[in-house]
Amino acid sequence: MIVVMKVGYSRDEIDGVIKRIEGSGLKSHVSQGIGHTIIGVLGQTFPELHDTLELLPGVEQVVPISKPYKLASREFHPQDTIVKVNGVTIGGDEIVIMAGPCAVESEDQLLATAQAVKASGANVLRGGAFKPRTSPYQFRGLGERGLRILAEVGKETGMPTITEVMAPNDVELVAEYADILQIGARNMQNFILLDEVGKLKKPVLLKRGLSSTIQEWLLAAEYILAQGNEQLVLCERGIRTFETYTRNTMDISAIPAIKKVSHLPIIADPSHATGKWYLVAPLALAAVAAGANGLIIEVHPNPDQALADGPQSLTFDNFRRLMAQLTPVAQAMNKKLAVSGTKAGINPATT
Ligand code: PEP
Ligand code: MN
Repeated sequence: MIVVMKVGYSRDEIDGVIKRIEGSGLKSHVSQGIGHTIIGVLGQTFPELHDTLELLPGVEQVVPISKPYKLASREFHPQDTIVKVNGVTIGGDEIVIMAGPCAVESEDQLLATAQAVKASGANVLRGGAFKPRTSPYQFRGLGERGLRILAEVGKETGMPTITEVMAPNDVELVAEYADILQIGARNMQNFILLDEVGKLKKPVLLKRGLSSTIQEWLLAAEYILAQGNEQLVLCERGIRTFETYTRNTMDISAIPAIKKVSHLPIIADPSHATGKWYLVAPLALAAVAAGANGLIIEVHPNPDQALADGPQSLTFDNFRRLMAQLTPVAQAMNKKLAVSGTKAGINPATT
């Protein structure tokens, strides 16, 4: 349930409400809505609590929340969450573009890609070091060496970085190197991993599970929020359906649906959603038109030689063309493409 305070409530009144909630063995979460202050009640509530809270001074009304996720819901947090990463904001009126190879393969490969995507307007550099692969015989990433290359290239180009963390034990290590930690689709319900990234003070990108409902996805988000990490971004990356032409089926409707029921920013990954490079641009444009706050896109200097996900990777030229197409679509949505992120202490003019 949520407690909506009257306009002009006093400090004593809100303290009284919090005391009553916590005295009942529950947790409270205060959120400043537009015009109203809201106190969310977390835990197993009971009918008598509703009535007692409604009688307290300063309380306008008590509203039951039927959804199983609370902190991730719009009722608990009416205003959009905005996540900040090195000067880039995700969730406001900017479209943030994350781009780079599926996997970090070498310093040359990553640096060339970073320079190219940055020149076309990308804001965040992606590159996997720990790769979840369907077959154990496929390239599984360079591990810590990949993280080191990612951090170095990020520094050299002044781009914040994002990379996947697959295991709870690796969270600390990955957080030392990367600016955003990605939870991949296959780990969306790895609850121990969710708890661990929830303890971080760094942004997390939570991808939708291969066959997860929107509710299951938001409950996974709830794990991270419940640990105190509110710097959370969701990512629609396609779901498993009967269709085999595409790698997955991109659920465009998930974007406005998430916007309606949650305050969390959402970006789209048309690369993994489609598995085909020539479908990436149309789906990227559609995602932005549907209200996405950004995109994550795989780009490779030579997709035909990529060690992972070559068929869905854009060449530098194709990425540049997509960026040009995105500008008018962003404008039509009253948004603009974010200006390249800068790391503290690095002057982009010199990189
Ligand atoms: C990736 O981003 O490289 C990746 C493996 O994505 P997903 O978890 O969405 O499959
Ligand atoms: Mn990939």
